Amino acid sequence: MDIQHVGVVGAGQMGSGIAHVFALAGFDILMTDISAEGLAKAVALIDRNIERQVSRGKVTAEAKAKALGHIKTTLKLAELGACDLIIEAATERETVKQAIFEDLQPHLKPGTILTSNTSSISITRLASRTDRPEKFMGFHFMNPVPVMQLVELIRGIATDKDTFDSCLAVVERLGKTASSSEDFPAFIVNRILMPMINEAVYTLYEGVGSVKSIDESMKLGANHPMGPLELADFIGLDTCLSIMNVLHEGLADTKYRPCPLLTKYVEAGWLGRKTQRGFYDYRGEVPVPTR
Ligand code: NAD
Repeated sequence: MDIQHVGVVGAGQMGSGIAHVFALAGFDILMTDISAEGLAKAVALIDRNIERQVSRGKVTAEAKAKALGHIKTTLKLAELGACDLIIEAATERETVKQAIFEDLQPHLKPGTILTSNTSSISITRLASRTDRPEKFMGFHFMNPVPVMQLVELIRGIATDKDTFDSCLAVVERLGKTASSSEDFPAFIVNRILMPMINEAVYTLYEGVGSVKSIDESMKLGANHPMGPLELADFIGLDTCLSIMNVLHEGLADTKYRPCPLLTKYVEAGWLGRKTQRGFYDYRGEVPVPTR
């Protein structure tokens, strides 16, 4: 199936990144959110981020203008019904995602492919509650979307070959690389990455090291470009906790037990960069460890 019109649900850090790369690749984007302010902020952010690419000589000013012309926004979810492909990138909560697909369903054209950018929730379960499980799959971008090369494509139990091939062709048109993952909790990247981040939080919780020593150890000792706690703040601590909960519940193994300290940060509303405080405090000139 030829895909040109793409709907993006959720204009947070992932939704805006997705709209950015699709618009640059020439797709027509219709982005929605529950917040008008969120939509306005997303468009301004995309403008700034593409401008940075222009100043680095990676994108021409003409391509930028063209890309911005490809992005439209709406507060009405129903308007996305006419799209060829819909990518849901709303808050990582199953009830939220389920409600979005339910509300979309009466407005969809028969051929529309539904996808979710979920980091961890079962694609098969989300798909089973729609009228088109064979046209439903996981389309998992990495953060920040304009920078990261990988897209995980996740087949639910019912996903058909045409749907998978159409999404694969989209990834190729974006100039990114797809990896294929079966539908098990947190797929491939987060199945491996999140327990590492959770272990870093346990290391902090048990007093083995400070925020600074843990991050420095992993950067200099394991050659990671970012420390695990810095990375957790970047991803969002609420997202990290919710992925650990999905692993813990879905695989029923105590090795995935979320660290109580991670839960405490989330309960405090210290969610990382997006709230300006997490394992680091970002309110000043330079990030300062909070422990
Ligand atoms: P975010 O908190 O930055 O953005 C979520 C957005 O969804 C917000 O703008 C919110 O207003 C909107 N939203 C909530 N309910 C909605 C609804 N009913 N309809 C429309 N919009 C709604 O979150 P994010 O980091 O962009 O994550 C979004 C999704 O992407 C999640 O499923 C997450 O697991 C996944 N993801 C996140 C990362 C990451 O590193 N943050 C990486 C890959 C995938």
